[in-house]
Amino acid sequence: MPSEALVLRPPDVGHKILIAQGGLKVPDDPILPLIEGDGIGPEVVRAAVQAIDAAVKVTSDGRRSIVWYRVPAGETAMFRYGDMLPAATLATIREFVVALKGPMTTPVGGGFRSLNVTLRKALDLYANVRPVYWIPGTPSPVAHPERLDIVIFREGTEDVYAGIEWEKGSPEAQRMIEILEKEFQARVRPDSGIGVKPISETGSKRLVRKAIQYAIRNHRKSVTLVHKGNIMKYTEGAFRAWGYEVAKEEFGDRTITWEEAARSGGKVSQDQIVIKDVIADNMFQQLLLRPEEYDVLATTNLNGDYLSDAAAAQIGGLGVAPGGNIGDAHALFEPTHGSAPKYAGMDKVNPTAEILAGVMMLEYLGWTDAASALRDAVRTVVSSKVVTYDLARHMTGAKEVSTSGFARAVVEAIRGAHR
Ligand code: NAD
Repeated sequence: MPSEALVLRPPDVGHKILIAQGGLKVPDDPILPLIEGDGIGPEVVRAAVQAIDAAVKVTSDGRRSIVWYRVPAGETAMFRYGDMLPAATLATIREFVVALKGPMTTPVGGGFRSLNVTLRKALDLYANVRPVYWIPGTPSPVAHPERLDIVIFREGTEDVYAGIEWEKGSPEAQRMIEILEKEFQARVRPDSGIGVKPISETGSKRLVRKAIQYAIRNHRKSVTLVHKGNIMKYTEGAFRAWGYEVAKEEFGDRTITWEEAARSGGKVSQDQIVIKDVIADNMFQQLLLRPEEYDVLATTNLNGDYLSDAAAAQIGGLGVAPGGNIGDAHALFEPTHGSAPKYAGMDKVNPTAEILAGVMMLEYLGWTDAASALRDAVRTVVSSKVVTYDLARHMTGAKEVSTSGFARAVVEAIRGAHR
């Protein structure tokens, strides 16, 4: 039972980010909601906040500062307010537009939908964006981790993650099986659970549109549509077709398909983005064998989930991989890893993924100086072999530090670079 009623009061200082026609209007003192998360969440979030604040302060000569607005979600919210995702928390993120979060625990099995999936759906954060690049010095299982530098745009609201599924034997599953058999002559074993995979033209096109816009803005060379269209023609295959359509119809002057490029003898002008496609299973080996041929990837929800964890392993693992959930204006930044409950409270885990989620957030705010300062500081610290246990155990001559010790080293590196 809830022990307290939830009342959220915004900070007395700071201003809201406004959504304007041409994009976001970010004040010098934006109020940003902060979800600390569960398990190791509070520790990595504390580390990230220190590092982000230092980067903002140093690069703006103290003119800018973030006003953090802590909002409850996850296990602590459940315990105190009887709700994993209180309506007030959701309303606050909606109102203040951009937020940072730590990982949250999702109980396995019936009863709970993933909080992350719920947040993405409720705020229509349709693009899950995961940059995967190597920080020199980070131990990696591959010989040339530096060759991988990609950004994965994973659709975040559709596919088999849409939550349209029924348990074996339930009246809904039985009814669906009956309809499939009677009306569509499709035989399904009666003891089947049923899940639905919706992939829409709207959902696919807006995701690919975002990926192409990103590629243009960031001078990337290609956008690869990753799909399993050879098997699932009307969902994955359609995603591929709609992707090419967006490229042609909306970015015709800036894009060229690889077939067109091949016809013109491989000639691609400097400012043209090559649009290509690869079948999902092949993509896994491509990233291992020819990582330098890929740049921005756009894909459906399930493919993107698998692909981004596998890609993260190539550059040092989940502890260093950040992500952003981005809609038309709203955005929520987080690490790719979960709440690792067995390490909670030990001041031990790697806060890099949360700090790099902060880098993505600063870029999204348009505070690119602060973003670069923060990313450079992480590079400096890791390449000097000051790392947490997860990396230290794979390195020779490493100096192992705690979560808070790593944060202090990053803050020091930020200050050192701007003295
Ligand atoms: P996990 O990512 O929490 O941890 C798996 C293992 O990875 C850990 O035991 C640890 O060895 C390592 N690890 C993870 N983060 C690390 C870090 N920062 N530094 C060093 N090592 C790190 O995955 P899990 O155990 O499968 O999931 C635990 C909970 O987190 C589940 O409830 C799951 O649903 C949830 N989860 C949440 C998110 C999210 O909030 N975005 C993402 C994934 C999983």
